Amino acid sequence: MTLSWVLHLRGNREPQNGRQDVDVKDGLVGVVLWSLSAARLPAVMTKQYSGQGGILAFHRVCRPTRHEFGSSNGLAVSPDKFRQILQTLIDRGYSFLSMSELADRLMNPETMIGQKFVALTFDDGFVDNYTDAFPICRDLGVPMTSYLVSGFVLREFPLWSAGLEATIALNDALEFPWEGKEFRLETRTIKQKRAIYRTVASRLATAKPAAILEICTALGSRYGLDFIKLGDTYTLTPAMIAEMQASGLVEFGAHGVHHASLAHLDSAEARWEIVEGKRQCEALVGAEVRHFAYPYGGSESMGEREVSICREIGFRTAVTTESNTIFGSDRDRLLALPRLTYNGKYQDTPLLDLLLSGTLPWLRRQKVVEAFRRTL
Ligand SMILES: [Zn+2]
Repeated sequence: MTLSWVLHLRGNREPQNGRQDVDVKDGLVGVVLWSLSAARLPAVMTKQYSGQGGILAFHRVCRPTRHEFGSSNGLAVSPDKFRQILQTLIDRGYSFLSMSELADRLMNPETMIGQKFVALTFDDGFVDNYTDAFPICRDLGVPMTSYLVSGFVLREFPLWSAGLEATIALNDALEFPWEGKEFRLETRTIKQKRAIYRTVASRLATAKPAAILEICTALGSRYGLDFIKLGDTYTLTPAMIAEMQASGLVEFGAHGVHHASLAHLDSAEARWEIVEGKRQCEALVGAEVRHFAYPYGGSESMGEREVSICREIGFRTAVTTESNTIFGSDRDRLLALPRLTYNGKYQDTPLLDLLLSGTLPWLRRQKVVEAFRRTL
């Protein structure tokens, strides 16, 4: 692994045009999305593929600052856009459901006829769930579900993505230990910063929590950054959670203790992440937590083992990142429900229609455009 890492990084030592490259690619995907919409594909697809509605997956509702070149890339939707999305759905007559209501509806087929629905879900417990998303949802009277990573909320585990991003943004090189070796990676140009972020983040995404903690501790002490304290900038506090819970508009779900990729853990570790995450989340919320979101949520990070654990400990629903709308038949897989990830990179395109009509999920299933599978 280490050799391929070095080779990968060598290939990225080019001058300052990284931002441009990324923007061009995103721009091309945007053009494709506009073209699909102009060809009226959503209108054609909707009858067969829109189902009864969908579970929309968001992360942050904010405008990323200039340095947030890594973790917020695609994860952030602006507050104005978020409000516009909700208003569009209200104008079109969608009902907004909490995850509990969604489970009720799926289990009572007679209620599946008529109004289409959406459920708004937010992963990772970012602070703007409270500062930006919650006020808009409250204003419009729509429910939201927020999946908490208890280690982040309790400030016991570093929000490594934000720390890594800040360290790379502020330094021309990154030195750290990994699997017993020392690495020194140049992070001078924007292109290098993006490439190094992507490379390191992809390793950390499948690493065990102890290894993540080790690298964050090393980076923190070398570069003078308190990774745990970054949680104060990015993550919900217990007081915010209590206020949201008391509103009756927000349903909280669990998202693991450390946001670990469960399939990369052994059985006992995976079970502990799910069981202890539920327990810690319940302590934070002050109520039973019946809903779960698998960290990362793809088939490489969860499987039948994780679904069984969720069933055994009494979760009512669990969501993945498999891209699809919701059909009545999904009542048979309440613990592996698909979602529609709203990618903030394309918030200025007809993304909402392309998702809710089932067009993009269908394209992904056909593998027509490989880029869709990776980026949407
Ligand atoms: Zn997550």
